[in-house]
Amino acid sequence: MSWLLPRLLMALVATLLGFIVGVAVHKITGLGALGLGTGIVVAVVLMLLVDAVRGHRLLNWLRGDQFDNAPRDTGLWGEVGYRIERAVRDRDRAVARGQLELAQFLSAIEASPNGVLMLDAQEQIVWCNRVAADHFSLDPQRDLRQRITNLVRAPAFVAYLQAGNFAEPLVLGNGRGPGSLSIIVREYGEGQRLVLSLDITERLRSDAMRRDFVANVSHEIRTPLTVLSGFIETLHSLPLTAVERERVLVLMTQQTQRMQTLVADLLTLAQLEGSPRPAPDRWVGLDGLLGRIAADADALSAGRHRLSLRPATGAEVAGIESELLSAIANLVTNAVRYTPEGGQIELLWRQLEDGSGELAVVDTGPGIAREHIPRLTERFYRVDGSRSRETGGTGLGLSIVKHVMQRHGGELMIQSEVGKGSRFRLVFPAARVRLASDTALGDEAAFGVAALAGR
Ligand code: ADP
Repeated sequence: MSWLLPRLLMALVATLLGFIVGVAVHKITGLGALGLGTGIVVAVVLMLLVDAVRGHRLLNWLRGDQFDNAPRDTGLWGEVGYRIERAVRDRDRAVARGQLELAQFLSAIEASPNGVLMLDAQEQIVWCNRVAADHFSLDPQRDLRQRITNLVRAPAFVAYLQAGNFAEPLVLGNGRGPGSLSIIVREYGEGQRLVLSLDITERLRSDAMRRDFVANVSHEIRTPLTVLSGFIETLHSLPLTAVERERVLVLMTQQTQRMQTLVADLLTLAQLEGSPRPAPDRWVGLDGLLGRIAADADALSAGRHRLSLRPATGAEVAGIESELLSAIANLVTNAVRYTPEGGQIELLWRQLEDGSGELAVVDTGPGIAREHIPRLTERFYRVDGSRSRETGGTGLGLSIVKHVMQRHGGELMIQSEVGKGSRFRLVFPAARVRLASDTALGDEAAFGVAALAGR
């Protein structure tokens, strides 16, 4: 009520002035009623004048953008101005807070890995994040207020929106390529819709790979099992001679070994996938490793090939010994298995200028046609299935090699030419290669000479 006193004072001043004027008029004219009337009119007009001036100032301020303070009048108008100014400032702060919250909210949705698209009741785009724009090939600015069905014309999508049954997500091929999207729609407000899109290309691919893998494993195991059960049946039902019996047992042993190898390779793959990356400071002497591999290769080849598998590398590689052994042995075993009698198989090592190390298994075998090379490291991929199985292959060897090399930060590189032979190179990064002694520097010269074309 702080405004009341100034207002009463003002009324008092106006009354006083009115009274003075009234007395003056009364004295001049001698008419008491005229003096009274004039006094009252003067007092009222004075009050109205002051109110009009202050009201006008306040109105002017209200009509403007209210950046300045409201007019600081005393009394009622000052109080009204101050209250309005406070209400306006509170409203501005609330709007700014709301805008900030909205901006933060939209940035959070923008950062979402999923596409988010908001549609109004007429299916017009109200807002979409960049991921949704990318998924549906939209322009987040230009396409606002456009009907989504005019822009995304995939019949399945249009039918899904129109049917209005959103219990199940829609799986849609991505317009930009072979990718796939999972689309979920939720209704909110008055007919508005929230469209969420998720790129499921990778998920579908890995699902397909898993299905293929299970089918392949089942197939690989079923074949020897069928053969084994046939032999068991034979042993049960037919009276075999000792020689025949021995032959059947040898064949049964081969099938059992095949399954054992397959299970061992599968376990190796599972271990590679499940175990932590090899430590960068556990050094494995390459020469010891190659000695063991060469001895096994000698036994496998049984003198059918010219083998040169013991280069003096003097090098050490940082990693897991069993994995390195498995990778190199797989390449050497393949070379022995696929190279016909009389062929040559070499194992070469060299350290490159940048410090990385390269181990190459080179054979003069049948070679591999160009179109197969990129697929050789796929699980169960074989160029010649029957030849691979005949020689005890599982189709998993090169995928194990690739996996081991990836885990060691290295790479498997394959060069091959039909009729000339193959060169499988294992490249280890500089950080994982060191020389155990200064004497052995690798056989760089031999490496150059044994190039494919030179053989
Ligand atoms: P597998 O157990 O069948 O040998 P791998 O993954 O080790 O499986 O090899 C995949 C395919 O690559 C083989 O089936 C074979 O056709 C081909 N291959 C691998 N090494 C050689 C080689 N040294 N010479 C010719 N072909 C090879």
